Amino acid sequence: MERKILNTLRALDTSDGAGVRLKRALGYNPMVRLDPFLMLDAFSSDNPYDYIAGFPPHPHRGFETVTYLVEGHMRHRDHLGNEGDLKQGGVQWMTAGRGIIHEEMPQQQDGVLRGFQLWINLPAAEKMKPAGYRDIADTEIPRLDLPSGGQIKAIAGEVTLGNEVLTAPVHGGSTDPLYLDVTLRPGELLTVPLNTGYNAFLYLFEGQASVAGETVQSDHLATLTDGDSVTLEGGRQGARLLLLAGKPIGEPIAQYGPFVMNTQDEINQALSDYRDGTLTAEPPEL
Ligand code: FE
Repeated sequence: MERKILNTLRALDTSDGAGVRLKRALGYNPMVRLDPFLMLDAFSSDNPYDYIAGFPPHPHRGFETVTYLVEGHMRHRDHLGNEGDLKQGGVQWMTAGRGIIHEEMPQQQDGVLRGFQLWINLPAAEKMKPAGYRDIADTEIPRLDLPSGGQIKAIAGEVTLGNEVLTAPVHGGSTDPLYLDVTLRPGELLTVPLNTGYNAFLYLFEGQASVAGETVQSDHLATLTDGDSVTLEGGRQGARLLLLAGKPIGEPIAQYGPFVMNTQDEINQALSDYRDGTLTAEPPEL
């Protein structure tokens, strides 16, 4: 069954970090999440004052952050000693697990900085696993040129399109996320198979696209009904959009800023671990 549009939401202007201006498409309040996805931020500016302050050192616990840089240059550094250079088209996959302290800073004085940060929840059984970090260069990300001129880039997951299978460097796992960057020409049609029962949404960041006759404008997020595929159609100026799907976790969520756990007690524990400096300490070997 083909998926349709369930709800359309306009991304809200906000700022985060040390004053980075961004649009929050998902997660601006606890009602606007889509299990397993907690938050989606879009940043896009050619004004350095909008981004230069970046995201100085801050903690996370209990989920994953995925940063996709469409244009520009950022650097990640964390308490584990990971240092990553995020360049145009690249992805950083950070699993906070029990705890990470990191910074994400623009490495440019001018020019365009444009990209996304997605937060994906972890199930209770994985919230306290050791932190992990992975840098994925643009050249490692599989893409497919569509016969009618568009393109698909597979940031995460695996997707079969006709005879082609695109397998992203990160795929599977408990939430099994699918994360595609889709470019469509005007009027171009694309059908993407999606797992039934997975929550899915689109985020339009250029042009317009429609699903089953309903149009989604730029800077809007559209959640989808359940089904086994979605058919996208590029609008008059074409479209560029993110298509995401993931397996819902179905557990309670307690969130306080950069900590996402199941209960308020676990949040209190995260706060006291952060204050004590043990947020990032590995559990003792038994
Ligand atoms: Fe962060």
